[in-house]
Amino acid sequence: MNRLAGRVALVTGGLRGIGRAIVDRFVAEGASVLAVDLDEDGDGIETDRLAYQRLDVTREAEWIAALDALDRRFGPLDILVNNAGSSRIGTIVSTSAADWRFVMDTNALSVFLGCHHAVARMGRRGGAIVNIASARGLRAGSTQCAYSASKAAVLSLTESVALHCGEEGLPIRCNAICPGVIDTPLMRRHAEESGGEEVIRAMAALQITGRLGTPRDIADAALYLASNEAAFVTGTALRVDGGFVIRDR
Ligand code: NDP
Repeated sequence: MNRLAGRVALVTGGLRGIGRAIVDRFVAEGASVLAVDLDEDGDGIETDRLAYQRLDVTREAEWIAALDALDRRFGPLDILVNNAGSSRIGTIVSTSAADWRFVMDTNALSVFLGCHHAVARMGRRGGAIVNIASARGLRAGSTQCAYSASKAAVLSLTESVALHCGEEGLPIRCNAICPGVIDTPLMRRHAEESGGEEVIRAMAALQITGRLGTPRDIADAALYLASNEAAFVTGTALRVDGGFVIRDR
């Protein structure tokens, strides 16, 4: 119930899917959370320990404004979850330069901006950063050319941040999670684009467990990495994928 008592967190993409599950889990465990997303308002999710603000994670000025707002409302940042992300289906032939830029900005530039500002603000006080990457960052998919590359970038960046903090003696841990296929609005949108229920059944079968993951599966892992239980864990890529990666090789 109190694994994050008194901690202050910012979760990107916090209104839907995995981000929303992380927000709810963190609040239930005692944290004060600023959820940020693309919507102008939070549709009534706010409580005494949960606030909402618009933040397009590709825009540096909006990052600075959101971190300032968090500081005023709840105090200094302890935990950052870089969760917001998107995708475009496409192979190396069918992916346009515009699609590539969109995906790299949304999934990789965003995580760079979040880590860049979070490390500067956490400094010697320390903190925890959790980056939501993907099993696709470990095993590329031919039809998710830009997406796979963007998530591999997140995994590399996670290691760079962890190494830098160690070298500078900053008590900041930085870890990534690699989800398998998770049942979220994003996954449903992609399934509808490429064939509907049949595709969803095929995606479920990609996991050894034979089922899709739930947002809660990923929220549990984010909670672990953000909490003191992971005090000796940094620079890692935690697979929460129902065995997707070992099956898909
Ligand atoms: P959803 O689309 O269901 O939720 C993501 C949220 O992020 C949405 O609210 C979305 O807003 C928001 N978002 C998108 N772009 C931006 C932006 N530029 N700035 C701020 N917010 C933004 O996605 P999921 O919950 O499925 O995905 C969450 C993360 O998990 C992503 O990084 C994704 O790549 C990763 N992941 C997901 C997997 C899955 O199978 N679902 C598997 C592996 C990794 P809007 O809806 O308006 O676009």
